Amino acid sequence: MIAMTDVQKHFGELHVLKDVNLEVPAGQVVIVIGPSGSGKSTLCRTINRLEPIDSGSIRIDGTELPAEGKGLAQLRADVGMVFQSFNLFAHKTILENVTLGPIKVRKMNKGEAEKLGMSLLERVGIASQRDKLPAQLSGGQQQRVAIARALAMKPKVMLFDEPTSALDPEMVNEVLDVMTSLAREGMTMVVVTHEMGFARKAGDRVLFMADGQIVEDAPPEEFFTHASSPRAQDFLSKIL
Ligand code: ATP
Ligand code: MG
Repeated sequence: MIAMTDVQKHFGELHVLKDVNLEVPAGQVVIVIGPSGSGKSTLCRTINRLEPIDSGSIRIDGTELPAEGKGLAQLRADVGMVFQSFNLFAHKTILENVTLGPIKVRKMNKGEAEKLGMSLLERVGIASQRDKLPAQLSGGQQQRVAIARALAMKPKVMLFDEPTSALDPEMVNEVLDVMTSLAREGMTMVVVTHEMGFARKAGDRVLFMADGQIVEDAPPEEFFTHASSPRAQDFLSKIL
């Protein structure tokens, strides 16, 4: 579903992704961990071309993302992304946040989009808040809206970049629960997170990144008990 081949990315002199190769089959949940600055966010952002790559190729369901133009908006809609900082439209209601994309990009009519939007807000447990503005919701609720908004585009892939890092501890689980159920329903997911309980429960595979490279790639149990590289062992000793 996601195929990255020989991907290189620099920011000026800084070599941030060093010849990354990654195949994620449909339905797989990939957890990405690693030290700050190792390239985890950049990896996610290149997958939907929020960041251009220098060379290599990235295909989603067999189709290469074009660098720009109309095709990009359509294809990018196939890749949902949820950020640490929610990024909701501050002056739109919760329901409008969820219906805007389907109306603009998927060309759905308003009624259809609202029906879909309400079903997704139900699913993330937040339908009763439909007419509020984002600032009137808790962080956990806002993040659940962000997930519903991404799902409204009917993406083939969902990317999550530290979706719970900005949340108060008591709100972390309500977001992870939504993600766990998405994973169980077979969504293809790439999740940057340091929530190791979630990684074990929902992840099919853990990637450990260091210095722009995927250093380890193993099922969660194997990674947590037998990480082979010293860098991964060192990292695990600090977070577990
Ligand atoms: P963190 O755990 O702190 O989120 P990360 O693994 O997500 O880190 P990235 O955000 O991908 O790391 O950054 C990788 C490297 O690229 C870092 O050295 C960072 O400073 C640099 N970098 C990221 N974005 C940019 C940018 N837009 N311009 C220049 N350098 C950047
Ligand atoms: Mg990051």
